[in-house]
Amino acid sequence: MALIVQKYGGSSVGSVERINAVAGRVLKTVQGGNSVVVVLSAMGKTTDGLVKLANEISSNPSRREMDMLLSTGEQVSIALLSMALQELGQPAISLTGAQVGIVTEAAHTRARILRIETQRIEQQIQEGKVVVVAGFQGITSTKELEITTLGRGGSDTSAVALAAALRADRCEIYTDVPGILTADPRLVPDAQLMTEITCNEMLELASLGAKVLHPRAVEIARNYGVPLVVLSSWTDDPGTLVSSPTPMARPLEGLELVHPVDGVEFDTNQAKVALLRVPDRPGVAGQLFEEIGRQQVDVDLIIQSIHELNTNDIAFTVSQESVNQAEAVAAAIAPTLRNRLDSAPEEAEVMVDRTIAKVSISGAGMIGRPGVAAKMFATLAEAGVNMQMISTSEVKVSCVVDAQQCDRAIDALCQAFEVSSSSLQSGSSQGKAIAPNTPPVRGVALDLNQARVAIRHIPDRPGMAAKFFGVLATENISVDTIIQSQRCHIVNGVPTRDIAFTVARNDAKDARRVLVPLAAELGCGEIVVDEEIAKVSIVGSAMINHPGIAAKMFNALARERINIQMIATSEIKVSCVVDRESGVKALQVIHAIFNLAGSQKIEVPV
Ligand code: ASP
Ligand code: MG
Repeated sequence: MALIVQKYGGSSVGSVERINAVAGRVLKTVQGGNSVVVVLSAMGKTTDGLVKLANEISSNPSRREMDMLLSTGEQVSIALLSMALQELGQPAISLTGAQVGIVTEAAHTRARILRIETQRIEQQIQEGKVVVVAGFQGITSTKELEITTLGRGGSDTSAVALAAALRADRCEIYTDVPGILTADPRLVPDAQLMTEITCNEMLELASLGAKVLHPRAVEIARNYGVPLVVLSSWTDDPGTLVSSPTPMARPLEGLELVHPVDGVEFDTNQAKVALLRVPDRPGVAGQLFEEIGRQQVDVDLIIQSIHELNTNDIAFTVSQESVNQAEAVAAAIAPTLRNRLDSAPEEAEVMVDRTIAKVSISGAGMIGRPGVAAKMFATLAEAGVNMQMISTSEVKVSCVVDAQQCDRAIDALCQAFEVSSSSLQSGSSQGKAIAPNTPPVRGVALDLNQARVAIRHIPDRPGMAAKFFGVLATENISVDTIIQSQRCHIVNGVPTRDIAFTVARNDAKDARRVLVPLAAELGCGEIVVDEEIAKVSIVGSAMINHPGIAAKMFNALARERINIQMIATSEIKVSCVVDRESGVKALQVIHAIFNLAGSQKIEVPV
């Protein structure tokens, strides 16, 4: 007999009819010989309605009272479902977060789960009941009983945390879409359902998938190895399996990571190749990486900086064994890249550094926590480590440092984030087996809500990035993709570099406001903000074993004459910033080039 946790979202319990349908589905699962724990969201848009009410009374309501208010929505739906089950003759009991004993941090409206007491639920299951638990809520302690909520969309997290605590056989997340799709079907009409995706891929697709699955839920599933399925409550289709390799045993205490960072990773088998002053026109990155891919050289990080005087710098890392080959390709291409429009044409230049290491921090806890990257930069600065390249993705910040400083960097980061380190060998699949038929690209995403900010001519010494991202964090501005360029400009005898990053468009003005005085104080150049950008990304764990994937993406964009303004990568993700007008087209051509299109039209509710 299996124990299954089923979570139903707001639209799945939006009406009495829908609640009865859910009761029917739960009953069927019980009749199949399973024990069932159900986790519910509030009915339909109840929570939005409660937020609106609060805002009519106060523009800045106390967070504690918000939790008192918002947690009521789930209490309605669980009682109704329990009644519906009882009507069908199925014994059931509804329990609030407090009644279960879902203990969280004392952070109102954004609490993380620390532990879940399971005795009461287990007792009820023993008695043959379906237990219906209120999602999204907890309490600060079983004595104080202060009600907390987990943040909007948090009932997915409640469900997966319960599944982990109860060691359930699987956790099913029922929603109003058939599962995880390869792209947003409103922009890409032939997007198709994925049958499977890994937790790591899902986390990198957070901006695509967050509406379907709360990233914190994905992280718990990965950390505790909870088999997770996302499926529609309207059909009997199998949905998408969100898989993870068997994890190391972890204590259930401190269940949701209190640490925003999950681990420090490093790779000392890397070398850096940079192509400086390449013309800023579509096709250059594609040409370069296509040739490198043809030679079966696997590229790891790729970074392209913003353009300046009509030229770009492209820097990338490869394994030590491949660096000569990569250098030869770059050297062969450089002379062909004369910028014909430039009045004083300078030839592109190749630079190679064989003594580098890549150091990264990873973890879903950094989503929405602007202080994490800043803390990494500050930690490295304090340790006297200079960052030569920076590239970030949704759940990872990677820095290229001098190989001799690698150990120092790792020690400092492990201490600062209270985690242990692990080695990544470039070119391997990080020890995780990738099934042979896994497509190299699993899904694509478009983010139209970002602006690009560049800080010019930052003196190249430890501590500068830490200062800039520190003040952004203090202002609570979340930074998305960060890259640090390769080129060194000498300004007044001091070598300088540019750093560019993206932020939510709403935050661009604030970012500029705090950065301008700091840049002046630190002797940097101007702050350039571009709000007319889009970010397109491809994600897939198997791209590690497939040279040429990035090239294929760059070439697809070039064929549409779409210029790439910025490139940032992680092991399993490539993101490009393009101009905003080209965003949707970029998404569509990338989706098509990786054969992600399906033949079945997938309907999603608006
Ligand atoms: N009802 C809460 C919300 O709307 C939690 C959830 O649905 O996951 O955010
Ligand atoms: Mg949801």
